[in-house]
Amino acid sequence: MVEKLLKFVSVERHTPEKRAVAERRDDFGEIYRDFDPDNGAEQAARCSQCGIPFCQVHCPLHNNIPDWLMLTAQGRLEEAYEVVAATNTFPEVCGRICPQDRLCEGNCVIEKGFGGVTIGAVENYIVETAFERGWIKPARPRRELASSVGIVGGGPAGLAAADRLRRMGYQVALYDRYDRIGGLLIYGIPNFKLDKFVVERRVALLEEGGVVFHKDFEVGRRESFESLRARHDALLIATGVYDARDMTMPGSGLANIAQGLDYLIASNRKGLGDRVPAFDSGALDARDKHVVVIGGGDTGMDCVRTAVRQGAGSVTCLYRRDRDNMPGSRREVSHAMEEGVHFEWLAAPEALLGDGVVDRVKALRMRLGAPATDGRQSIRPIAESSFTLPCDLAIKALGFDPEDLPAAFDSPTLKLTRHGTLKVASHSMMTSLDGVFAAGDITRGADLVVWAIKEGRDAADGIDAYLRGKTANRGAAMAAAE
Ligand code: FAD
Ligand code: SF4
Ligand code: SF4
Repeated sequence: MVEKLLKFVSVERHTPEKRAVAERRDDFGEIYRDFDPDNGAEQAARCSQCGIPFCQVHCPLHNNIPDWLMLTAQGRLEEAYEVVAATNTFPEVCGRICPQDRLCEGNCVIEKGFGGVTIGAVENYIVETAFERGWIKPARPRRELASSVGIVGGGPAGLAAADRLRRMGYQVALYDRYDRIGGLLIYGIPNFKLDKFVVERRVALLEEGGVVFHKDFEVGRRESFESLRARHDALLIATGVYDARDMTMPGSGLANIAQGLDYLIASNRKGLGDRVPAFDSGALDARDKHVVVIGGGDTGMDCVRTAVRQGAGSVTCLYRRDRDNMPGSRREVSHAMEEGVHFEWLAAPEALLGDGVVDRVKALRMRLGAPATDGRQSIRPIAESSFTLPCDLAIKALGFDPEDLPAAFDSPTLKLTRHGTLKVASHSMMTSLDGVFAAGDITRGADLVVWAIKEGRDAADGIDAYLRGKTANRGAAMAAAE
C-alpha cells in the first residue's frame, strides 16, 4: 500500500475548487466546494509519512495526521474517520477555519518546494463523508453517572467539553446567554467561512445524545454563579472574551461608527432570518456605502468580506503594520484581496470626520521600526503623511479583552492572570475555586477555535478526574464510618 503514498513529486497540491469571485461576492455561501473522492485520496497520497511529522507537532490537538492521510489514500475512510475523531471533537470545523498556513500545513515538510499537503481539506473531506454515510452518532454512554456538570458558554470550548463529558456518562447542562448555541461559530464567523448548518448539525447531535441546553440564560443575571455552582457537582466556565477594544480619536462620537462584532452579529442574524432593527434601519448595512475597516485580524477580515457581500460601494482595510505582520490568516487576506477589498498597509486612523455622521477617515502613514520586547516590529508615524478616505461606515476591529468575571459572577476569589483571563492549573484546568474549571478564550485571551476545542477536551478530563476523586473519597469516608 506504500506505493499509494509519497506522490508529492508527481501530484501537485490542489485545494478543493474555489468558487469564482464574481459568484461568491454575491452570496454568503462557503467559498470552497468539497473534494470529490478521487481528489481527496490523491491529495492525501502526497504525504511522505515523515518519521517526525511536523504537521502533527504544530497542530494544537496533535492530530494523528500521517495515519489519517495514509488511510484516506488507501480508501479506508471509516478507519480514517475514527483516527480523526479520536483527537478532535469538531474536525469539520477545524478543516474549514483553522489557519492551516500557520499550523499544520505551514509546517508540512514538503511545503517548501512542493507545496504542503492539503491537510485541512482532507480532514474536512473525511468527516463530511462520515456524516454522509451515517458513521457519526450521538453520544451513547455505556453507563449513566449520577454526577452533573454545568457548563457556562456554548462556544467551541463549552461544546467540546459537553461532548466529551456526556460520552463518559455525566449529566451535562449547558447555559448560554444567546438564543442559539455555538458562540462565535454562530454569531461571529460568517457563513462564507463556516456554514451555520455545520454548527447546527453538531448541536443537534449533542442534544440527541442527552446534553441539556439552556438558552437565553445569562449566568450572573438570570441566576447567580454561586447558585449554579451549588446545583452541579462541577462547573466549567467557557464564556469567551467580548470586551471590544476601542480607540478614542477626534470624531469617535459621530454616527455610523460600529464595533466589528456588532456588525458581524447583525449580518449573521439577518442571514439566520432574524429581525435586526440595526440592520433594517440601514445603520449596520454596508449596501452602497464606502466602508473603512480599522484592524487586520480575523474580525477585520470577516468584516471587509461581509461588506463586499452586502454590496458596499468600496471597502478599505486600514492596518498600521504591513501584510507580513498581519495577525489574521494570510489565506483570508488573499481571499479578501481577490474579492476586491483595498488594503492600506502601514496606515493608522487619526480622526473620523463629518458633520454628525462620519463621511471621511483621516489617516497617517506609518513605518516599521526595530522589534519591540514582544518580538513584533514597532511602528512610527511618518510626519506630514496624512491622507483621507471617503467613509460612510467605519468599523472598528481592534480585538477583544476578557470582561471582569469576578465582578460579573460576584465571585471575588476567582483569580485572574495579569491579562485579565481566568487563572487555571495547567494539568487540570481548575480555577482558584474548588470544582470550577475554565477553558477557551476566557483562559487564553482571544485565540483560535482549535485551541478552544483542545482546552474544552482537557477541561473535561480534569473534571472527570476531579469527580472520580470526589466519589472515591466519599466511598473511603463511608467505609471508615462503618
Ligand atoms: P466563544 O465562542 O466566544 O463562546 C462563548 C459563549 O459563552 C458565547 O456563546 C457567549 O454567549 C457565552 N457566554 C458569555 N458569557 C456568558 C454568561 N455570563 N452566561 C451564559 N453564557 C455566556 N478562530 C479560528 O480558529 N478561525 C477563524 O477563522 C476565526 N475567525 C474568527 C472571526 C471572528 C469575527 C472572531 C470574533 C473570532 C474568530 N476566531 C477564529 C476565534 C474563535 O472564534 C474563538 O477563539 C473561539 O470561538 C473561542 O471559543 P470559546 O468557546 O472560548 O468562546
Ligand atoms: Fe490542521 Fe487544525 Fe486540523 Fe490540526 S485541527 S490538523 S491545525 S486543520
Ligand atoms: Fe505528511 Fe507533511 Fe505531515 Fe510529513 S509533515 S507527515 S509530509 S503531512
